[in-house]
Amino acid sequence: MIGGGYVGLVSAACFAEFGNQVAVVETHPGRLAALRKGEIPIYEPGLDRLVAENIKADRLSFGDDIAHAVEGAEAIFLAVGTPPRNGDGHADLTYVFAAAEQVARAMTGYAVIVTKSTVPVGTGRRISEIVSRLRPELDFDMASNPEFLREGSAIGDFMKPDRVVIGTDTDRPGGAARAQEIMRRLYRPLYVIEAPILFTSLESSELIKYAANSFLAMKISFINEMADLCERVGADVHELARGIGLDGRIGRKFLHAGPGYGGSCFPKDTLALMRIAQEAGASSRLVEATVQVNDARKASMGARIMAACGGNVRGKTIAVFGLTFKPETDDMRDAASIPIIHRLVENGAEIRAFDPAGMTAAKPLLPDHNVTYCVDAPDAATGADAILVLTEWNEFRALSPERLRGLMQGRVVIDLRNIYDPAAMDTAGLDYSSIGRPRNP
Ligand code: NAD
Repeated sequence: MIGGGYVGLVSAACFAEFGNQVAVVETHPGRLAALRKGEIPIYEPGLDRLVAENIKADRLSFGDDIAHAVEGAEAIFLAVGTPPRNGDGHADLTYVFAAAEQVARAMTGYAVIVTKSTVPVGTGRRISEIVSRLRPELDFDMASNPEFLREGSAIGDFMKPDRVVIGTDTDRPGGAARAQEIMRRLYRPLYVIEAPILFTSLESSELIKYAANSFLAMKISFINEMADLCERVGADVHELARGIGLDGRIGRKFLHAGPGYGGSCFPKDTLALMRIAQEAGASSRLVEATVQVNDARKASMGARIMAACGGNVRGKTIAVFGLTFKPETDDMRDAASIPIIHRLVENGAEIRAFDPAGMTAAKPLLPDHNVTYCVDAPDAATGADAILVLTEWNEFRALSPERLRGLMQGRVVIDLRNIYDPAAMDTAGLDYSSIGRPRNP
């Protein structure tokens, strides 16, 4: 497994749990040092136990020696990052191609090289060319096996997936069958739970990942627009989401209105899909609109918060509940908290922030002045003029409105994740606003 980040580490631990022998190659010195000490450099529920058990069972190891890791491997996964390339939205494939070259140089016999990273259509073939150019004599096949896990529930998602997609090079005589056989064996434990395993071409598999993420992002942008409409016409976006979501054709998931999607995948994958379509001369107007709606929404959140604070935040203390892009992760990539807190600080606010897992990752990304990091949510709320909920961690849901009112100096609560009950907030005397719901129920 080349890359021991969110995807590489979870995939490696789960493949080891399936009974395979897995060697993880990680080049980031901090991450590797932690892994070697048995520490998990990211926050993902259940991962520490799974990693520890598989290290103990001698099925999982970590290092930076690629030659050692690929020696005798039947499958070599590339799980390195594919961030957006500066400026043009295209996925930056520097890490993928560098890893492919390292793998090519290190291989000693047949293996299937698998992209687990999210990569644009055509990347599998380009990797195949790189490997063949560097090692013309080498026997290998190429496969694409995109990962659909969600941070925060990654192990469950990997172990009980809705489906596994495996793309192989159907043009290569015999290659597809050989690669499929190895991949089928790797995922065999999932046959017991009858998880569908879908074999496709390389191109279909690569595109499935972008299409899936773009569709989910589109669903979020859709419900966010509906939330704005609900606010204008006095409807409730929760009732609306339930009313449409119970229709099996629509589905209930991903209909939660909020401050706009963030995280390490949706923003970059929607942009990359637009770019792929553009280069292919195809239209992607729905995805373009999805991105525009989301960008506008994120940009409008600062104004919404300021309006809720009476039009001005200068000299006001705002408690921020949650910094990560979603709960149960420490991932801060493209989190809504980053632009929002910068905007509030620029406008003279004092921030008292708390996040259960993301504070270490957040510090370098947030202003280095006017932000105090608190020990818990009640600590953040103490003496605050306003509370701003940015991430729906369960521990925030449990706080009683009366307690919050007692801790605060002011009364304003701006809940961008709709975790509190408007009526209960009202009863406690709080000036509560949320997304897509009537202000005074
Ligand atoms: P990440 O940044 O957490 O992990 C990538 C890791 O690869 C880093 O630790 C980096 O040090 C390491 N690395 C880079 N080059 C290397 C090399 N040559 N040799 C060894 N290690 C190397 O990224 P991630 O979130 O795990 O994402 C990886 C890929 O999976 C991306 O393409 C992403 O789009 C995709 N993906 C991510 C998620 C998610 O929820 N994070 C879900 C599905 C798919």
